[in-house]
Amino acid sequence: MNASARHGAALTVRGVATRAVLVPLTFALGTSAAVVREVPLLLCDVSTQEGVTGRVYLFCYTPAGARAVANVLAEAAAMIEGQAVHPASLQSMLMRRYALLGVTGAVRMALSALDIALWDALGVALKLPLAELLGAERRPIPAYDSRGLGLMPPDQLADEAAALLEKGLRAVKLRLGYATLAEDLRALDAVRKAVPPDLPVMLDYNQALTPAEAVRRGLALQRENVSWLEEPIRHDDYRGGAHVARCLDVPVQLGENFNGPEAMAEAIAAGACDHVMPDVGRIGGVTGWMQAAGIAAAHGLQVSSHLVPEVSVHLLAATPTAHWLEYVDWADAVLDEPMQIVDGAVVPPDRPGLGLAWSEGKLRRLAAL
Ligand SMILES: [Mg+2]
Repeated sequence: MNASARHGAALTVRGVATRAVLVPLTFALGTSAAVVREVPLLLCDVSTQEGVTGRVYLFCYTPAGARAVANVLAEAAAMIEGQAVHPASLQSMLMRRYALLGVTGAVRMALSALDIALWDALGVALKLPLAELLGAERRPIPAYDSRGLGLMPPDQLADEAAALLEKGLRAVKLRLGYATLAEDLRALDAVRKAVPPDLPVMLDYNQALTPAEAVRRGLALQRENVSWLEEPIRHDDYRGGAHVARCLDVPVQLGENFNGPEAMAEAIAAGACDHVMPDVGRIGGVTGWMQAAGIAAAHGLQVSSHLVPEVSVHLLAATPTAHWLEYVDWADAVLDEPMQIVDGAVVPPDRPGLGLAWSEGKLRRLAAL
């Protein structure tokens, strides 16, 4: 019996191919930080010598971000060419190799993408959905609609909230951070009146406020039955975050900018948040997510996801304190089989690995970067 027969998933890294495309959004998204009308997605295919391909896509924020991540990804893949596909071991090695450049931003995203694609390859080789490969049952994860409700006039918010409900999800996220608290309250009121009375509404400030202003606005908003207050202040001001969290009853949500599980551990130790929502592309891929999920579970904190729902749904299924899946439809524009919503939730698909296949027909209609 040769080595590959003895180890069912024995795979060897061959290389990586990437392509970046610009996907127009169904709902333009105005946050307190920027207006987003189209999103650069980087599609990554990691090949193995055995013929199995691992796939993932990442949202890279800007076109230059996509180019930077693709550059690092190519370099990192060359460093591990010919090595066995052991994602956690390879990530540790690559983090050492990039320690001097700094494992943040585009470097962190590239290493995360590589890790996710390698896990996907293992799942494909073993014919197991990623959730099952991680030891979890494919269970439904409740999802909230994060596609719209950016900063816009109240009547447009009401119309968009009604349009979002047609997708079948039973919770929505509203972006706040208008010039005044009165405007924030008007926006929330417009959404509330357009949706069923007890529908959970999450609020996201995208780091717009000072700690003092976050407390002032939070005290008013928490009377309005909202699910959480996300990134009210600068994301890495954990001392300020702890002050805000102490002063408010509404849970403070933090996590899309956690750079690795270490950052999440620091935020939790500082008391900067009540809930966490790591981004699989910044927390360190599947390997980093599972470490973060363990830290959150040990502290009894509920874990939601940030974007990339096709990957996150598998990870939340394997997360002991799973909370909400953040749903966006951005990858529908590149996938053969877009994510399905059933009863306000998403079940990890019963396909090997992540279950991602690119639609070449759809890709031909998108602008390449
Ligand atoms: Mg956010």
